Amino acid sequence: MLSLLSYIVYEHNLVFLILAVMTLGLGSVVTMKLFARMRRTEKDVRQLWLILAGLIGGGTIWSTHFVAMLAYESNLILGYDPVLSIISLLLVVATTTLGFYVASLTQRTYLIEIGGLILGLGVGLMHYSGMAAIHLSGVYHWDTTVVVFSILFGGGFGVVALNRISRPVTRFCQQGGTVAFCLAVALMHFTGMSGFTLTPLNIDLEVTELISEEILGTGIVIVMALLFLTTFITSTIDLKNAEATSEHYKHLALHDPLTGVANRLGCEQYLTKVLSRTGDSTTNVAVLSVDLDRFKNVNDVHGHAAGDHLLRTICQRVTDILGDGEVFGRFGGDEFIAVKSKVFTERDALEFGHRILDSIRKPVVWQEAIFEMTASIGFSLFPRDGIKPVELMEKADLAMYRAKTRGRNCAVGYDEKMDTAVKERTALAMDLSSAIENDQLEVYYQLQNNASTRNISGVEALLRWHHPQRGMVPPDIFIPIAEETGLITALGNWVLHRACKEACEWSLPVNVAVNVAPKQICDPEFPATVHETLLKTGLSPARLELEITESGIISDTAQTLHIIRQLKNLGVKIAMDDYGTGYSSLSTLQNFPFDKIKIDREFVKEIHTNKHSSAIIRSTVILGNSLDIPVLAEGVETEAHLKFLHEQGCQQVQGFLFGKPMPHTDLQAILDLQNGLENVSEFPKVEEKRALRAS
Ligand code: C2E
Ligand code: CA
Ligand code: CA
Repeated sequence: MLSLLSYIVYEHNLVFLILAVMTLGLGSVVTMKLFARMRRTEKDVRQLWLILAGLIGGGTIWSTHFVAMLAYESNLILGYDPVLSIISLLLVVATTTLGFYVASLTQRTYLIEIGGLILGLGVGLMHYSGMAAIHLSGVYHWDTTVVVFSILFGGGFGVVALNRISRPVTRFCQQGGTVAFCLAVALMHFTGMSGFTLTPLNIDLEVTELISEEILGTGIVIVMALLFLTTFITSTIDLKNAEATSEHYKHLALHDPLTGVANRLGCEQYLTKVLSRTGDSTTNVAVLSVDLDRFKNVNDVHGHAAGDHLLRTICQRVTDILGDGEVFGRFGGDEFIAVKSKVFTERDALEFGHRILDSIRKPVVWQEAIFEMTASIGFSLFPRDGIKPVELMEKADLAMYRAKTRGRNCAVGYDEKMDTAVKERTALAMDLSSAIENDQLEVYYQLQNNASTRNISGVEALLRWHHPQRGMVPPDIFIPIAEETGLITALGNWVLHRACKEACEWSLPVNVAVNVAPKQICDPEFPATVHETLLKTGLSPARLELEITESGIISDTAQTLHIIRQLKNLGVKIAMDDYGTGYSSLSTLQNFPFDKIKIDREFVKEIHTNKHSSAIIRSTVILGNSLDIPVLAEGVETEAHLKFLHEQGCQQVQGFLFGKPMPHTDLQAILDLQNGLENVSEFPKVEEKRALRAS
């Protein structure tokens, strides 16, 4: 070991020595990187990386050796044999490549270490063949033990080098492999040289056949420079390719494949970025929720290909009108989001919304069809309506729902008061959809009484919803929601069935009135549903009265009249509900065969305070009498109400004076009581009771 150190320090020119160390250092780093790169590459380009790694690795070993030889200060070196020098280079490139190749055949087996051994032994082979290329003025001798040791060093560290690169356990293993590679080359060289003794002799050789030290030095520099340059260019191309691929995948992950615009993730990322940038400025950011109106119809009628074409065209058109700081993306289905930064007033956001609407409204041609779409747009403003992306998107959505309820084809901004109500309604609508199956509904009954005798003439069925959290939700709240969502048909059918069924259980067979929503009365299936319900429950048709409002009639008068006639053919009665509140035209009463007119409770409430109300009641009663249709007044709360109505000739009344709507069991108790009274005493209205039973 001592002789090795003294050899390095005393017998070398330090400048060349440092140059050798630098060549080795740089070469080792690059070589090990290339080897690692090759192991991670797919089959087809792997060979190219292998060749590059072999060239750089072999070139590094070879140059290190010869630069170190140049550092060897001796005038006994006569020159270098060109053929042998080149052969030594080819040998080391070949063994290095082979070593790498063998090690790359596997991910786990000992072929890795065998490859490392080939690499290390190749260093020895290069060293001794390179030494053979040197022409010396003297007789030399190798110490066999030292030579064996040098080869062992080379092979051993070669094994360690590839082992560390191929079986990493920490992130420092690549550096470990590089150090081992350096040691394989350096220890091999210097140990080998320390076993080398030269006895000077004055041999005169033909020097012209040999390469001088200067030419060799220049050659090494050129070879290495070319190799490093090649590696640098290749690695840069590689890096750029990797970046391009990752950009491509990033694009795919953030964009919608159908339309090419940003997808949900892309929009959210963009919004987060914009909001974080706007944190310290005075401008606003608008977030727009865009939903196509009745897009489902296109898909249902013309197929998905038409729907896709429409979505693509709309996205293209909207993208074309985007200005600076404006982005449009698709959330899925027919839901889109748009973001506009640098918004100063709400008007800027509205203008952007209208611009989007305009481009959506342009006709889209598909085969023979032309689609004229509209959209509902809602927007929220940062920071006015929220500072988090999720919050802003939610509020834009709420505003969009309001745009839908306002008749679609418009853009509206978020309004806390209005949109919270929309949110409430949406939540209620969701709960209502499962109210039947969760057994949360009940039918209450309110008495209808004869205005002069005060006897019970019938009852009205009124729906009640027991909400698990909110308690009893009034029908004034949930019936309009059910009408909007279409749930009203299911609810109406449920009430009809329940009321008919329960009416069969009553001891006094009074009439039962059931409310029918506009949507139900326009449904051609409705008479069949009623017929089926009567058959199933066994209720006599004459005991059923259906209350309809004018709004249910006017949408399609001819159709509704047809349905009402069918219902009347079943033997069912029809009452005109809420008379006076709607259009209440004389012609409606003339044309429709009503069995009862119900004056709305609003007029009764104002009998004594509002001249017009009392006049309307009076004229309605006269009208009813002249058309031979009985009149019932709703909302009778006081004796004074009853007196007035009775005086005017109103035959029936309904209101809190006789009882609030009550559960079925309470009604049964009342009916039982009246039935008992009728049976026990000479109740004056036996005739009426008979008439009821007979009907
Ligand atoms: P409506 O058909 O006009 O029903 C009468 C409403 O007036 C009932 O309200 C009843 O409780 C109330 N009322 C009765 N007497 C008085 C009174 O003396 N004073 C006052 N201030 N109010 C009185 P309810 O039960 O809350 O029902 C409200 C509305 O909900 C009903 O008005 C009806 O339009 C609708 N509705 C209820 N059940 C159904 C149903 O099963 N189907 C349909 N389509 N609508 C229903
Ligand atoms: Ca009613
Ligand atoms: Ca009414």
